[in-house]
Amino acid sequence: MSYLSKKTVEDLNVAGKRVLVRCDFNVPLKNGVITDENRIVAALPTIQYLINNGAKVILCSHLGKPKGEPKPELSLAPVAVRLSEKLGKEIVFAADDCVVGENAKAAVAAMKDGDVVLLQNTRYRAEETKNGEALSAELGSLCDLFVNDAFGAAHRAHCSTVGVTAFVEESANGYLMAKEVEFLGNAVNNPVRPFVTILGGAKVADKLNVIENLLNKADTLIIGGGMAYTFLAAKGYEVGKSLLDTTKIDYCREMMARAEEKGVKILLPIDCVIASDFPNPIDAEIDVEVVAADAIPADMEGMDIGPASAELFANEVKNAKTVVWNGPMGVFENPTLAKGTIAVAQALAETDATTIIGGGDSAAAVNTLGFGDKMSHISTGGGASLEFLEGKELPGIAAMSDK
Ligand code: AMP
Repeated sequence: MSYLSKKTVEDLNVAGKRVLVRCDFNVPLKNGVITDENRIVAALPTIQYLINNGAKVILCSHLGKPKGEPKPELSLAPVAVRLSEKLGKEIVFAADDCVVGENAKAAVAAMKDGDVVLLQNTRYRAEETKNGEALSAELGSLCDLFVNDAFGAAHRAHCSTVGVTAFVEESANGYLMAKEVEFLGNAVNNPVRPFVTILGGAKVADKLNVIENLLNKADTLIIGGGMAYTFLAAKGYEVGKSLLDTTKIDYCREMMARAEEKGVKILLPIDCVIASDFPNPIDAEIDVEVVAADAIPADMEGMDIGPASAELFANEVKNAKTVVWNGPMGVFENPTLAKGTIAVAQALAETDATTIIGGGDSAAAVNTLGFGDKMSHISTGGGASLEFLEGKELPGIAAMSDK
């Protein structure tokens, strides 16, 4: 499937039509207050386009994991308020525990062109995550057209991302989805070279398929974070108490051999920031030392890349034309152990290359460290961007109508 062959919202004739938009309003909440509104802001272009073009705009999303039952703390009510402020326009929140209930039906029936209605959390219904037919049909009964703009949920075949498409005239990608596909798709399939990918985060096992796919695409693969220690162990180094997946040592050895065959450079940390124990709480003060990557004492744990590694990685980024980054270089939640992640973020911020940040922790790190506006693209989907990097087809995009 070519993602670029899928219809986008501009290919639809939306005037006077009821258009259901699957957004990703899965925002972080603390005591009912939205603590990061990025996902709401990212949804605005599609919503605004539909309003401006005379559609009746019906929005839906999941929020958290209510596990198939109504949970008041996971209601989309706070999103309705914030969204209304952002749009400068009143929107109707249809607070049905069954998502498509009397409130939703009445609100949609009363809509005029340009009006906006938000449905309740789709995961209040157990069928949502099973792609059940009943909820898919109910969602479809509310609308004529469907737009999927929830990149963060595009790797899941759910009622509100895939099932509903069987019950509408046409389906298309929204602007956010199209932007994600354009950046990630071009980077992975048609990169301006040199193409450098940086992988980090806790576990090597989570990124096996990403490593394998990127070995066929990238010129350089930089590996930091907790996952680097399994690679270091594969080189025969002592890694002490560092994160290590003994079942994946052979895999790492195989990947390093394959990289050599293909002429792909793999860069591993050459020095590490170590401590005797993992910080508790995670941001507690901690005494650290820097040692060479092949000199980690057996009773110590590596928790960040050291300064020489940071420089090595930054230099590689300087020569790149395309950089994709997924996963922090260390325990970035702790200021003492965030330096490697900051150094990489800084290098990306300073380069003219196209810089793409996978969602999840890397996006959060880049944003909280203040480098957000220096990146070409920060993906809104952690799991979805990883699956994209694995080369998998995303069902939420595959289900859209062809051009
Ligand atoms: P992931 O969800 O796989 O992207 O992993 C992100 C998590 O990995 C963060 O919470 C980091 O604190 C953690 N992490 C990164 N490097 C290390 C390390 N060397 N040791 C333990 N945890 C790490």
